[in-house]
Amino acid sequence: MKSRIALALLLLASQSPVFAQEKVLNLYSARHYQTDERLYDNFTKQTGIKINRIDGKEDELMERIRNEGANSPADVFITVDATRLAVADSLGLFAPVKSKILESRIPAHLHTDTWFAFSTRARVIIYNRSAVRAEDVSTYEALADPKLKGKVCSRSGGHPYNLSLVASLIAHDGEAKTEEWARGVVANFARPPRGGDTDQIKAVAAGECGVAISNTYYLARLIRSEKMEERRMMERVGIVWPNQSGRGSHINISGAGMVRTAKNPEAAVKFLEYLSSDEAQRYFADGNNEWPVVSGVTANNPALEAMGKFKADNLPLGSIAKNVAVAQKVLDRAGYR
Ligand code: FE
Repeated sequence: MKSRIALALLLLASQSPVFAQEKVLNLYSARHYQTDERLYDNFTKQTGIKINRIDGKEDELMERIRNEGANSPADVFITVDATRLAVADSLGLFAPVKSKILESRIPAHLHTDTWFAFSTRARVIIYNRSAVRAEDVSTYEALADPKLKGKVCSRSGGHPYNLSLVASLIAHDGEAKTEEWARGVVANFARPPRGGDTDQIKAVAAGECGVAISNTYYLARLIRSEKMEERRMMERVGIVWPNQSGRGSHINISGAGMVRTAKNPEAAVKFLEYLSSDEAQRYFADGNNEWPVVSGVTANNPALEAMGKFKADNLPLGSIAKNVAVAQKVLDRAGYR
């Protein structure tokens, strides 16, 4: 009797719209910005697919997807830096995605078969205006010049941001030259590597360091800061777009891919395609003071505009990421920790 009631209830339930199977996309996200909320709400409005977001640190989320194995509920993994996306790919976490929309909207050097960039940031040189001349730090290579002895500050060499940059140097200059470069930079250190990009910016402003490297969104954050002292601080910091008369400045990305074991592959592809739409591009990029990747979509961000236009290195990020293991070895040998 009891089981018949249960069955009847079950049948009833399955017909009721309340219990109708709700379309949900499980998004594992190592990106958490306030504007992302609105971005995701718009996706739900357009497609009826709800987003269930699981936030975490990139390494933890990758580990989690691995541990969950075939049972993982993850449909899409979203993170920053090509190095991390390449790691996720090498762990076999991503499925190849075929999408005419993505292929036509995302430039070829900003995606692979498995992951796609949705915004870019540049890794630029910053200097103390009263201690260093811009023309002495116009390229990444110049940071190894003995002229800068005791002036260079850096976050750890092993951080993905620096690994990606060094991997790009290896692609352009070769391994031997890059190792020589790394030794030169180490010889120029004002202090052993420590802290993040923002710590380097502050140390440059304070004159503890003459020159350092930072991702652009950290600079934009301080330029746009509500704190007057941070905006004032930025007046002491000069920004150089590196390698403008050559290959252009090294850029990196925020990006995402479909998880290999996705339970909702159609929704996953739809979501990736949505992120390449004009409207989503603006939200996605602006949420972290980055640039849209789709051509013709412009950022309306005063801090980015204040930094001006630049020539970006167009080397495919997927191929740069393949040099990351070598980059780590080069930095270890050079003592760039
Ligand atoms: Fe960052």
